[in-house]
Amino acid sequence: MNYETLHSLSPQELHTWALQQDQTDPLRAFRDRFFIPEREGKPLTYFCGNSLGLQPKTARAAIDKELITWQNHGVEGWFEGEESWLSYHRCCQQSLAKVVGAFPEEVCPMNHLTVNLHLMWASFYQPTPKRYKVLTIAGDFPSDQYAIETHLKFRGYDPAEALIEVSPRVGEYIIRTEDLLTSIEQNADELALVCMSGLNYYTGQVYDMKTIAAKAHSLGILVGFDLAHAAGNVSLQLHDWGVDFAVWCSYKYLNSGPGGVSGVFVHEKHHHSNMIRLAGWWGYDEARRFEMTKGFVPMNGAAGWQLSTPNIMALAVHRASLAIFDEAGIENLRQKSEALTGFLEFVIQRVNLRAGYEKIRLITPIDPVQRGSQLSLLIDEGGKQLFDKLVENGIIGDWREPNCIRLTPAPLYNTFEEVWKVGNVLGSVL
Ligand SMILES: *Cc1c(COP(=O)(O)O)cnc(C)c1O
Repeated sequence: MNYETLHSLSPQELHTWALQQDQTDPLRAFRDRFFIPEREGKPLTYFCGNSLGLQPKTARAAIDKELITWQNHGVEGWFEGEESWLSYHRCCQQSLAKVVGAFPEEVCPMNHLTVNLHLMWASFYQPTPKRYKVLTIAGDFPSDQYAIETHLKFRGYDPAEALIEVSPRVGEYIIRTEDLLTSIEQNADELALVCMSGLNYYTGQVYDMKTIAAKAHSLGILVGFDLAHAAGNVSLQLHDWGVDFAVWCSYKYLNSGPGGVSGVFVHEKHHHSNMIRLAGWWGYDEARRFEMTKGFVPMNGAAGWQLSTPNIMALAVHRASLAIFDEAGIENLRQKSEALTGFLEFVIQRVNLRAGYEKIRLITPIDPVQRGSQLSLLIDEGGKQLFDKLVENGIIGDWREPNCIRLTPAPLYNTFEEVWKVGNVLGSVL
């Protein structure tokens, strides 16, 4: 969408324009499916779905349903009914497959994100004396950094030597794809794995996963992505891109509740390999799990990486939330997300225009293909005061020391009018 023509509008006219967008938005009804947090009886402008997505109104009933099954059936809940707990993960596979662009058997909800990262590494990090290095991005989310650092040590490698971190160029925030590709190429002889976030939590940059995967594979290197900030946010085609594995969490854009169940993707090409895995009984061939025999026989597909009895309450919420994604359609959501984020970019540039200089620096890419719902704003002077002003006005984003505000208009529950309001508050402060 081109917002240039809006520059001539007065604040009031812009408000009217935003309201019109909301009225004609084909996804407008979905906002009412969520509880919007309130303060003093007024809904907050919640732009923090990258941290914790809002609660679907169906979540409570979904948990209640399983509590009632537990109440009435006890242990038989595992086996009874069409949606027995034993096969409950299947209720999420179809929808998850659409979210990440995979076949249902390539995905499975399980565990928590960082746990899954270690599990995937146990299988996909296959160092040899010559090829043992791992390439990642510098300054990735701390949990990923700690997981990689300690996993390398656990395998007997010195992270300082075995880990290659690609940074943005001096004075830049975005990592150029060409720099990632060059680094993969230059280190190809020693690389076992490329493992990084698919969408940078700080800058909001979406990496060109398809191109990165193709380059790594052409050089015999496996590729895994952490999609914590990408799943439910941007278009993903993990199967077609040939990505070897991926992990994500469900409590950010996927709105499945604090600490909700994580998910993994394992490409079909690995389903019948004998790669090592750290196993548990829940990954064991379902038909024979309760024979309790010796010798691990995995279930087919990503489900064969499960370890433990799943948390049914968490899965129930996840399932209820994924049903909303099914209904809205991931491509429709993406379209609205681009429009909303584009409008947010416009209102910020408008503030800069009025200020006469770049008071707010956007470090998120301008190209919609390279970003999701999130914009990261750097404010060198008075950033914290500006953030506090937003909060005062009921706008919830998040603040990162020393100078960064992240704002995330989520297409399921945010509106153009809310974006307009952000612009209005920013404008009134500057
Ligand atoms: C949110 C996030 C995490 C959090 O990991 P948990 O194990 O769910 O606590 C990890 N990595 C990235 C990239 C994230 O964005």
